[in-house]
Amino acid sequence: MGSVTLEPNKQTNGSASDASGGAASPIRSYAPATGALLGEVPVFSAEEVAATVTRARKAQAAWAVLPVEERAERLLRFRDAIVERADEIVEIVSKECGKPRHEALMHEVTIIADLATYYCRNAPRILAPQEISLHLLVHRKSVVRYVPRGVVGIISPWNFPFSIPMGDVFAALVTGSAAVVKPSEVTPLTMRKAKEIYDSTGLPEDLFGVVTGYGATGAALIDAGIQKVVFTGAVETGKRVAAACGARLIPCVMELGGKAPLIACADADLERTARAIVFGGFANAGQVCISVERVYAHKDIHDSLVRRVKELTGELRVGDPSRDFFDVGAIIFPKQIDVAEKHIADALEKGAELVAGGRRMPGPGQFFEPTVLARCSDAMTVMNEEIFGPIVPIQKVDSEEEAIALSNRSRLGLNAYVFTKDRKRGRKLAEQVEAGSVVVNDVLVNYAVAEAPFGGIKDSGFGRVHGDDALRDMAEKRHVNYDRMASPARDPLWYPYSAKSFHWLQRGLRLLFAGSGLVQRIGELF
Ligand code: NAD
Repeated sequence: MGSVTLEPNKQTNGSASDASGGAASPIRSYAPATGALLGEVPVFSAEEVAATVTRARKAQAAWAVLPVEERAERLLRFRDAIVERADEIVEIVSKECGKPRHEALMHEVTIIADLATYYCRNAPRILAPQEISLHLLVHRKSVVRYVPRGVVGIISPWNFPFSIPMGDVFAALVTGSAAVVKPSEVTPLTMRKAKEIYDSTGLPEDLFGVVTGYGATGAALIDAGIQKVVFTGAVETGKRVAAACGARLIPCVMELGGKAPLIACADADLERTARAIVFGGFANAGQVCISVERVYAHKDIHDSLVRRVKELTGELRVGDPSRDFFDVGAIIFPKQIDVAEKHIADALEKGAELVAGGRRMPGPGQFFEPTVLARCSDAMTVMNEEIFGPIVPIQKVDSEEEAIALSNRSRLGLNAYVFTKDRKRGRKLAEQVEAGSVVVNDVLVNYAVAEAPFGGIKDSGFGRVHGDDALRDMAEKRHVNYDRMASPARDPLWYPYSAKSFHWLQRGLRLLFAGSGLVQRIGELF
């Protein structure tokens, strides 16, 4: 394996080292807010990944036979350790990502404490066998059981290095599977901290594994005989990962990019909408898959909204989160700043107005001014492609219908927002937007809803995390169909076939299904 030396703030997520064998130079993790070296982790070879999966599978065999109540009870100890040691997690997440400590606490630790609590408390109900009465074959019955899959591989990005993988880890473990995480090469220390905390709780050590490395280590994980993949990352990577899973027939969840529109209706509460745009656009320096990535403002509210967004953006304090309680932190790597600058140049060339920000800030560290663009149009890249940085572009529209049509033009469909004082209409409009989740009069909040599914449609991916269905999907659905009463030795639907039995089948079809049909009434009787 080749050696790789990463300069501070020059990390790439390419495959300068791969997982094909041999010893690679360790990955160095740098603080994007200061450029300081935070630590290093090894690049796992394919053999080391396979060995981690083998150990996880062994541990899982004993874990899977425990009653779900016991698994949940023991996992709550891990939740408690996370809460007790929240400061350590906040510290490393904030340093490694450059995000404000408020956000590390709220969006990473608190979300996981809540999701873990919800899943552990409710797993016995959610995973209970489901008895199904049958409307046609009334003499039989079905039961669906949720059986542990084995080892679940979790491949995660850098923007929420704790909450994204840990939600999936809790879901996998409580359903009786093991979990092996391949964290982003850009933020590997956070998962190492999570593993350290896990190991302190007395839970089976090998049940939760962490394999650090680049994309090739992720590819090796998919190839290591695992039973499910939960992938979160960019659309292009997702396509490669989904293809690799397809080749091995491994079910996968694809949590990919977003281009969330915010529709500001004519009757929206101006102050709340402006504040939502600023928070939803600049939290985590805009590096959120559900960031407010484009605003469609009704012409009646547009000018005052742009004015207020400009004022509020001007009040934001940007800086190193380890020095003070700044509002906006750092940009993860220089490439992301280049992307922001390209979007801004393209928009200005095509007639946009720079309302606030627009420039990279002096180092040390990587910072970019929170930027607001007005007079945007759908010809601009900033309204079409994922920005993943602190830019909010605003486009004036003549009607809410136009805003919905523009929202739905995107090939991405993860999240969307509608702001209106008419809550009933808000819900109606929300139902017309093509996105996995649409939030009325709030931003980002749906990721914190443990009970509801989170995930995208179109190129934003498929499958879901969070919510009851996602937990059931973490397990294997196994169906047993059995007889409710003694069956005759000679079944009239079996051999031999004859003209007479065919005639009876024809009559039966008409009797059961024609018109109001008997089948419904039979079902009601049983
Ligand atoms: P990325 O796709 O570059 O990397 C994600 C992970 O995939 C990393 O761990 C990486 O090492 C790994 N990887 C790369 N190539 C691989 C391969 N061939 N096989 C297996 N693994 C491989 O994404 P990123 O830059 O870390 O994250 C940013 C992207 O993630 C954005 O597009 C953002 O919208 C998206 N995202 C989506 C969600 C969601 O829930 N839908 C959440 C957060 C981020």
